[in-house]
Amino acid sequence: MSEPAFPYPVSGWIEVIVGSMYSGKTEELIRRLRRAQIARQKVEIFKPGIDDRYARDAIVSHSELRIPSRSVKDASDILRYAHEAQVIGIDEGQFLGPALVRVCERLARRGKRVIVAGLDQDYRGKPFEPMPQLLAIAEYITKTLAICVVCGNPANRTYRKVRRGGLVVVGGADLYEARCRRCFELGRRVSAPESPNPPGGSDETSSARPRQRSARRPRRPRRGVRKKG
Ligand code: ADP
Ligand code: ZN
Repeated sequence: MSEPAFPYPVSGWIEVIVGSMYSGKTEELIRRLRRAQIARQKVEIFKPGIDDRYARDAIVSHSELRIPSRSVKDASDILRYAHEAQVIGIDEGQFLGPALVRVCERLARRGKRVIVAGLDQDYRGKPFEPMPQLLAIAEYITKTLAICVVCGNPANRTYRKVRRGGLVVVGGADLYEARCRRCFELGRRVSAPESPNPPGGSDETSSARPRQRSARRPRRPRRGVRKKG
């Protein structure tokens, strides 16, 4: 083409969806990707291979929404499969390491719409790289909130229920729950009341997300024991 159709070349951009576990990041990512597919745009969807234990070929929300995806070992793999795509969706960005930032910038520079969902905080409430860096360079940011399982207020944190070492311990409702700031800080001194049927908590289907229990085991509060970190 001798001249561009627009006075300036159309540029790509980066959208980031962050929040705690169960806050609806994956639902929101799937919603945006489905709308792009309805618009007949070429969409490529990726997730880190670390989450392969439950579904290798799909992104699945805690509410059982799913969309086919490709598992990648690291962020640079995305470049190999994204040539043709107009829209690129990436889930669990926090597991793809610092290279994800450069990869997203390259894709956006090539005119693509890049949508990344991921945890902005780890189980200690600390920024979870590389999501904070992506937030800095993104054009559009969405922060989603879950519901605190202890008190019912909006929840911004992911609380690790077991004492298990390491920043990256992939797990679901058996290991993690959504908590508000206050209940997060109270740690083991508070616990979720027994719930017979938590939303999105079906144990029946296999999913990319580790399964949720359909009933919580009652927990005896331990006084004076503070959560680490
Ligand atoms: P994320 O990707 O942020 O972990 P998902 O999009 O996979 O979240 O799941 C969101 C869904 O999880 C909600 O629509 C709801 O059905 C379910 N859910 C289970 N526990 C909670 C909770 N504590 N707060 C909000 N939603 C929850
Ligand atoms: Zn709370």
